[in-house]
Amino acid sequence: MDRLVSVLDRWQARGRIAHFWLRDDDAVAPTPALSRLLDLSSRHRVPVTLAVIPAEAGSSLAGFLAGRPAVDVALHGWSHQNHASPGEKKQELGRHRAHGAMLEELSEGAVKLKALFGDQFLPMLVPPWNRIDTGLLPHLGEAGIETLSVFGPEKPAPVRMVNTHADIMDWHGTRGCRAAGDIVTDVIARLAAMEARGGVMGLLTHHLVHDEAAWIFLDAFFAATARHPACRWATLADLTGGQGDPAQAPASSRS
Ligand SMILES: [Zn+2]
Repeated sequence: MDRLVSVLDRWQARGRIAHFWLRDDDAVAPTPALSRLLDLSSRHRVPVTLAVIPAEAGSSLAGFLAGRPAVDVALHGWSHQNHASPGEKKQELGRHRAHGAMLEELSEGAVKLKALFGDQFLPMLVPPWNRIDTGLLPHLGEAGIETLSVFGPEKPAPVRMVNTHADIMDWHGTRGCRAAGDIVTDVIARLAAMEARGGVMGLLTHHLVHDEAAWIFLDAFFAATARHPACRWATLADLTGGQGDPAQAPASSRS
């Protein structure tokens, strides 16, 4: 974590601010793990965007999140169902179904989340497994979607993209938290890319599968960054609310 603080110190010395955001996936209902995530993030004043699975979400989650202004809700596909063939990477929004059918689901999901979460819902799509047929992208507006969030560097697309860039989970190995040093290396690499090209640093978490190491990492990561003068944890509304590109905002706009 010291390496990351050193990088942020250099940003501070140059009067620059690095915008971070937190995306946590797969919420459908209040659980002890979700409480733990929201308690931890609010203790460090880190806003959270929850990617909620609309088919399964209901009023219990809406009631639980109501009155938490630091929590935004995004659309996590429709039912997080895999439509890919065996042997293929899992996808709900891949090239396996007609665009019309997928857009209908997404539209229904957006309407449902808006009804449940009101202004906490922002029209951002987080495709399950971070995969989506690129042919669908020009049509997302038809389902009311204004922003797309996947994993990895943003690519040119016919829709605004706000991605995540560092994933704390080791999906293919231990299925627990990755080594802290490896996650920090990813964050530092993203900061280097941001120095050259702008943008924001998205951290990806999955509260339902966090092991103890994941919680310990997040606590340490938030502690190292949230009060650093060169880091600002942004809400999704900050990043998409038409205030211009926050990554380009001068340091003097810091509040
Ligand atoms: Zn998911």
